[in-house]
Amino acid sequence: MDRKVTQQVTRATFDEVMVPNYAPSAIIPVRGEGSRVWDQEGKEYIDFAGGIAVTALGHSNPTLVNVMREQAGQLWHLSNVMTNEPALRLAKKLTEKTFADRVFFANSGAEANEAAFKLARRYAFDNFGPEKHEIIAFYKSFHGRTLFTVSVGGQAKYKEGFEPTPGGIKHCDYNDIEQLKAIISDKTCAVVMEPIQGEGGIIPADVEFAKQVRELCDQYNALLVYDEVQSGVGRTGTLFAYEQLGVTPDVLTTAKALGNGFPVGAMLATEKAAKSLSFGTHGSTYGGNPMACAIAEAVVDIVDTPEVLGGVAKRHGLFVEGLKALNEKYHVFKEIRGMGLLIGAEMVDSLTGKAGEIIKAGAEEGLFALVAGPNVLRLAPSLIIPEQDIAEGLARLDKAIAKVVANNKAA
Ligand code: PMP
Repeated sequence: MDRKVTQQVTRATFDEVMVPNYAPSAIIPVRGEGSRVWDQEGKEYIDFAGGIAVTALGHSNPTLVNVMREQAGQLWHLSNVMTNEPALRLAKKLTEKTFADRVFFANSGAEANEAAFKLARRYAFDNFGPEKHEIIAFYKSFHGRTLFTVSVGGQAKYKEGFEPTPGGIKHCDYNDIEQLKAIISDKTCAVVMEPIQGEGGIIPADVEFAKQVRELCDQYNALLVYDEVQSGVGRTGTLFAYEQLGVTPDVLTTAKALGNGFPVGAMLATEKAAKSLSFGTHGSTYGGNPMACAIAEAVVDIVDTPEVLGGVAKRHGLFVEGLKALNEKYHVFKEIRGMGLLIGAEMVDSLTGKAGEIIKAGAEEGLFALVAGPNVLRLAPSLIIPEQDIAEGLARLDKAIAKVVANNKAA
């Protein structure tokens, strides 16, 4: 069954045939290796974005390619009424390495969150009755693009035109315990938070705030749900960011880096919370399929080692030093913050809205970076990005910032 790909596609093809969703850049990457990526024209880029904190172990990681090949030759999918060895091994591993007793597999972050929100509702319904159904989340949070997850998310722009979105959700400011105290009640079934807000602008939780949220959840019999879709799997220097905060949630969701780019998500839960989902109450055709789980199992094995986790703090230091040096030269950032390799540099007020221009100029110079929130330059590279790539990428960022600063002066 030989087959040749003959069709030529370009960025213009997107405008012709795709349903508009994200607005993709003009670049079409065709190959990646480690922290370098090449586009259709053969132009090379250094990847400081990692597909938004996804490619934790770099592009085309040879170990993962082998795992994928082996599993592809063995079993892709059978039926979700049968389990499989990679799923069971991965679930066992995740429960051994975390607070969780049980795991549910999904295919994305949003889907893992849907499972968590459904679990919270069901847990409260079973134990306390239907009145206890309110979910509290934080402004600026992001939990996905499905209807329930945009509803829980704290950013109005993702809800516009999709109303009525599912109800029973309240929001308050992140890192403000008084506001949370004012809205939490016996009706609250869960408080949902990112240990470090990603899309909202790389905003880490204050440790004291995180501890008090835990206490309030205990006081009101509400589940504490950590969305670690962006912060998990080594990103902050521990397998999950809750370890950094010294706070243990009842439920945790993970995706993105878990598959290093292969679609997989997971919801981790304590026995107490998990047993509310009985057989038949939730599921997914592909969730927990052997391909995804074999890859995720290898990702967790590789990430959860001193070589990888131990290198995150050093690389964090190199990035922060580099950004500080750029700031001394250009005075473009008002704050550089983050944890591990989830780093944000907030633009000064006079450059509000210019982070996107830096990203564009960066792409011209051969660098992928990201925006977070309205005004933050976000870096979320591979956890094993070579030091040379960090230095070269920062040099390209230097050129990109110089261009934007010059254009800004001319305007
Ligand atoms: N939660 C968080 C914290 C995220 O950052 C994202 C994606 N940016 C999601 C959920 C949604 O994940 P996915 O796109 O895989 O559905």
